[in-house]
Amino acid sequence: MKSEHPSSPSLRDYTFFESTTSICPQCMNTVAAKVVVRNGQVFLLKYCAHHGEQWELLEESAEYHLRKRLYDKPGTKMKVHTTVSRGCPFDCGICPQHDQHACIGLIEITNSCDLRCPLCYAGAGEGEHLTLTTIERMMDFFLDSEGGQAEILQISGGEPTLHPQIIDIIRLAKSKPFKYVMLNTNGLRLAEDKAFVEALQEFRGGFEVYLQFDGFKEQTYLQLRGRNLLECKRQALENLAFAKIPSTLVSTVSGGINEEEVGKIFLFGLKQPYVRGINFQPEGFFGRIPDIGKRKRVTLSGVLQRLEQQSSGMLKISDFIPLPCNVERVAITFLYRSQQGGFLPITRDARIQDYLHLIDNTFAFTIEDALKNAGRSITDIKASLDCCKFISDFRHIIPFNFFAKSKQRKMEYIDENTFRLSVTSFIDRYDFDIKSMQKECVHVITPDLRKIPFSAYNMIHRGDKT
Ligand code: SF4
Ligand code: SF4
Ligand SMILES: [Zn+2]
Repeated sequence: MKSEHPSSPSLRDYTFFESTTSICPQCMNTVAAKVVVRNGQVFLLKYCAHHGEQWELLEESAEYHLRKRLYDKPGTKMKVHTTVSRGCPFDCGICPQHDQHACIGLIEITNSCDLRCPLCYAGAGEGEHLTLTTIERMMDFFLDSEGGQAEILQISGGEPTLHPQIIDIIRLAKSKPFKYVMLNTNGLRLAEDKAFVEALQEFRGGFEVYLQFDGFKEQTYLQLRGRNLLECKRQALENLAFAKIPSTLVSTVSGGINEEEVGKIFLFGLKQPYVRGINFQPEGFFGRIPDIGKRKRVTLSGVLQRLEQQSSGMLKISDFIPLPCNVERVAITFLYRSQQGGFLPITRDARIQDYLHLIDNTFAFTIEDALKNAGRSITDIKASLDCCKFISDFRHIIPFNFFAKSKQRKMEYIDENTFRLSVTSFIDRYDFDIKSMQKECVHVITPDLRKIPFSAYNMIHRGDKT
């Protein structure tokens, strides 16, 4: 038998990068872990007293991983609702250890769904709808926890369009101080019910549809969603475009299933008139797929590598920046329409890390927000200089008369001429590391009025009794 401990010293086949805390996926105890680099990739190397040594892929590109800390910023202090007792991730939430506010608050208004996706995190199917009163209480709780106004509210489920009061719920959300309201949907109702899509027109401006869209192959839909949905997705997009309602495509990227389709999804999305961006989400292992088993993990930087390989030279990994509010698990770039007509990444050849202080801890970061922050105090000489330098660095994307436009026209201009590409990688019990967890900025608002980071919710707390 091969000895694990050679009699004479030899070199490890990895480099120890840093320490962290992880979870043993078998006993769910927290365990010490090393973050190590091996063959250009990053792994978690864990030691559980009961279940031994375990390796888990954390990032497919060590180069990208090392770049994250250049973009890191202090987190945001916020109201807490629980105390520290068992430790992270068992004390949600938000407990005093959490290090980031909610860029996105998500309310699951129903457990019902008209699909039974084999990978559903929520295990949705037959289920109950929340009452409007409960939903309003949750919205108000979210707003209060964010200091009275919040950035993005996602109305989710289950399938939220099955809720009989969905229009009232969106109207209620729009009457409150949320910067953006998003409707997370599989698109079935959007494809089949034109009157419903027309009814959504009243919400235009600060409202977006977050449309599940996983690719083009029949096999992709059969394996991820249980039935071929491509025509339904096309019809949903056509109906949305007809009603001039903007959307973001949300693609789950699954190893061995649709990992070869991300480039095609990007090129397709770019051509759709009212699609404003794409969010790629590597598959996480919880819900209906609790075990990684033989499935192949795709990581955040793995999605970036595939986008570079599959986008006919349009995108490079270096075009993406780790989002300052959660550098570990979100990457983003914006493309802008160039004078020649094509789209180019704003971040190409720009030193975004010089402007971190102008970027809020937000997922809803826009160029205009950064400019506003740069000019916040004209008596502050440094801020004014920053603003000038920022404008000169980004002059190629800002039209001559941009600042003379009305707020509405500025928003329209940005909408029509920029395209947002992001990758959000949620955390499961295999690739859990405590920093990623405590910086997570997508929070589920629960009916018992807690704010639980999305990954911790799916990993542990979904079954909590309310
Ligand atoms: S995930 Fe955040 S809120 Fe939950 S226990 Fe960890 S630090 Fe606390
Ligand atoms: S993933 Fe979404 S569409 Fe699929 S069953 Fe779950 S809630 Fe329904
Ligand atoms: Zn264990």
